[in-house]
Amino acid sequence: MNWIDSHCHINDEAFKDDLDEVLDRMLENDVTKAMIISSFTDDFKYGLTIKKEGIDFKHSLGIYPGDVDKVSEEDIQRYFELMKSAECDCVGEIGLDYYYGKDNKERQKEIFERQCIFAREINKKVIVHSRDAVQDTYDILKKTGVKGIMHCYSDSKEMAKEFVKLGFYISISGTCTFKNAKEPLEVVKSIPIDRLLIETDCPYLTPVPYRGKRNEPSYVIYTGRKITETLGMDIEEFKEQLNKNYSEFFN
Ligand SMILES: [Zn+2]
Repeated sequence: MNWIDSHCHINDEAFKDDLDEVLDRMLENDVTKAMIISSFTDDFKYGLTIKKEGIDFKHSLGIYPGDVDKVSEEDIQRYFELMKSAECDCVGEIGLDYYYGKDNKERQKEIFERQCIFAREINKKVIVHSRDAVQDTYDILKKTGVKGIMHCYSDSKEMAKEFVKLGFYISISGTCTFKNAKEPLEVVKSIPIDRLLIETDCPYLTPVPYRGKRNEPSYVIYTGRKITETLGMDIEEFKEQLNKNYSEFFN
């Protein structure tokens, strides 16, 4: 059974010199499904051109919370046009980041909420980035009634359960392999297994044993193994569950 990277940025500059080899290593490691996440319309168009026989790519586009001050109304309309297109599977990553953006919370909330409302209108799910902003994130998701994935989940297990109740999937990144990573593993144990996904968020958040180097989709196996071990599950059974979750997410 194959692995899945539910969140990667292989359309990033970090992969421009050796993308072919990165894709080969995905196949070698049975990572044959992945979602490419774009924060800019050009990245999105480029992402659509990334193809590899044997790998099933999904595509997502959204205005990242760190970019909300840079986008004009015209830009937003350009994003919306592409989000509507058949090639765009999800809206995201969108959300709130109060760690890097302390001074523009209102603008972040406005752009996040507009994208959630739009996603509902066009009947697509959202990929959510939330850092130091869990309550506001929750409130906007609840108010707008969208469903989707909490990407690189880093909040409490209590809040994870609340997001699950809203219909969200919880995606765990390579940080769960770090030595001091208690929380993500507690989250893994406390949510229903049918709402769990894993991801790399590459080129960032590289799991052990490659921590400190550039991340890539094939490394999702280290996150998967760590979680399998934590849950005391059989690895094939876990992969089967991941595949079920991922396909149900898209239904
Ligand atoms: Zn990301």
